[in-house]
Amino acid sequence: MRAFEYYAPESLDEALALLRQGGESARPLAGGTDLVPQMKESATRFPYPQRLVSLGRVAELKGIEFTEQAGLRIGAGATMMDVAESPSVRERYPALAEGAGVVGSIQTMNMATIGGNLCNAAPSADAAPALLAYEAQAVIVGPGGRRAVPLAEFFLGPGRTALAADELLAELRLPVPPAQTGAAYRRHTPRKQMDIAVVGVAAVLTLEGGRIQRARVALGAVAPTPVRAGRAESALEGQPPSAELFARAAEAAAAECSPISDMRGSAEFRRRLVRVMTERMLALAAERAKGASA
Ligand SMILES: Cc1cc2nc3c(=O)[nH]c(=O)nc-3n(C[C@H](O)[C@H](O)[C@H](O)COP(=O)(O)OP(=O)(O)OC[C@H]3O[C@@H](n4cnc5c(N)ncnc54)[C@H](O)[C@@H]3O)c2cc1C
Repeated sequence: MRAFEYYAPESLDEALALLRQGGESARPLAGGTDLVPQMKESATRFPYPQRLVSLGRVAELKGIEFTEQAGLRIGAGATMMDVAESPSVRERYPALAEGAGVVGSIQTMNMATIGGNLCNAAPSADAAPALLAYEAQAVIVGPGGRRAVPLAEFFLGPGRTALAADELLAELRLPVPPAQTGAAYRRHTPRKQMDIAVVGVAAVLTLEGGRIQRARVALGAVAPTPVRAGRAESALEGQPPSAELFARAAEAAAAECSPISDMRGSAEFRRRLVRVMTERMLALAAERAKGASA
């Protein structure tokens, strides 16, 4: 690795000032599990940062809190282990606990932050589908103050987000899931351990009076960004849950995604996986919704 300046500020204001002074050549550093390997390989596609601003000591970026009024707040600096093990996340947002709980190894999960997962903007990011399905807002801070962006608008393309160079992702805000909501996330990886998703699927279903009142389906690794499957959601809403309905919605999800072929799998294989996994996630989410308190 080449030389770079390293700063470890203790407040958000200080971190933002250091980023601003560093201009385009400064980069925030969270757990480093994406950024450091990228710097090591940086000869071609990745502009090598001259300045790293570590976020590890910034208290404002930490913590996970849930209230029945405000919902869930997750600091961007919360680790995947923090998220996967949080009692509030496990109980109220199980699909997110499942997404955070498959990131790399225990060591990776202890370093990797949820903010880093989103800001790295890989289409396969495991925290993203559940956050999209729970309709998370990304709270961004910068010289102009704070703004909240729906997560669906945060991702612009592989490695590209709505963040300017002098902005940081501060936290995620998730609304309280209504009663009788069930959710699930699974991914498929070619290898059992330490691989990234070929397809990831999150489903969140809310039941009311024996029908699906609200459906959210989000897909990872089958488009330039993690995406919602709007046509699948429309097919589900207002209908009584059934295996036939889930199969139909899963077909819609497979038809509306736009996977590529790469060394992990062909586009056709990914589309097939979307169908199978969406059907399974919908069935699991519906089962959990039936078990949830009304
Ligand atoms: C062995 C291994 C296994 C992995 N397995 C998985 C996996 O199974 N699933 C998966 O999704 N990922 C996986 N990853 C990728 C990585 O661990 C995750 O994406 C992780 O969440 C990145 O977080 P980080 O804190 O390490 O980010 P960093 O590497 O520190 O940062 C990533 C990017 O985000 C930017 N950034 C970080 N925080 C902020 C912020 N608050 N505001 C603005 N920009 C910010 C950085 O500048 C950088 O561009 C793996 C990585 C390794 C090394």
